[in-house]
Amino acid sequence: MDYKQAAEKLSQLLSNKRFRHSLGVSQTAADLAARFGEDIDKAKLAGLLHDCARSIPSNNLLQTAAAFGIVVNDVEYRQPLLLHAPLGACLAQKEYGVTDPHILKAIALHTTGGRNLSNLEKIIYLADFIEPSRDFPGVDKLRSLALDDLDAAMLAAYDQSLHYVIEQGVLIHPATIEGRNYLLLQRQNNSI
Ligand code: FE
Ligand code: FE
Repeated sequence: MDYKQAAEKLSQLLSNKRFRHSLGVSQTAADLAARFGEDIDKAKLAGLLHDCARSIPSNNLLQTAAAFGIVVNDVEYRQPLLLHAPLGACLAQKEYGVTDPHILKAIALHTTGGRNLSNLEKIIYLADFIEPSRDFPGVDKLRSLALDDLDAAMLAAYDQSLHYVIEQGVLIHPATIEGRNYLLLQRQNNSI
């Protein structure tokens, strides 16, 4: 399935708003890939499909994860919406014919982040944050930071995400903490 066919299929399954968000993430990911010398087509496709599992009703997420053999941790069990990321990777493969493991992993990690991310994984995580329809205090600053320094932008995005999660009073996914710690330690070691 090529990009156009995937977009056509996705447009049938997602709400208008989420489909527009997906196109925004796709274009923003392409821009970041161009800026940092990553594969533009992979970034476009990963961005397009990152939320493809939002087509699964939220009360079916746990069941669908079990069917795909995804190991669900305590946080995901309590907040199954988090599973749309790893499930998105499963659907991208099964329903959209994506075989590239780098694209699949970028989709799987787009909600939580994690340690030692590839540039493509950082690009999809950030594009989800800063695509044109996103509007929150500081989004423009994050947009320009992303074009300047992926790691600095990732740290700012992790911080933003943690603030939000704490404000909402919900559980923090360990991968977000691990990702943030990893980057902070890496930057400290590099400056010694
Ligand atoms: Fe998402
Ligand atoms: Fe998204």
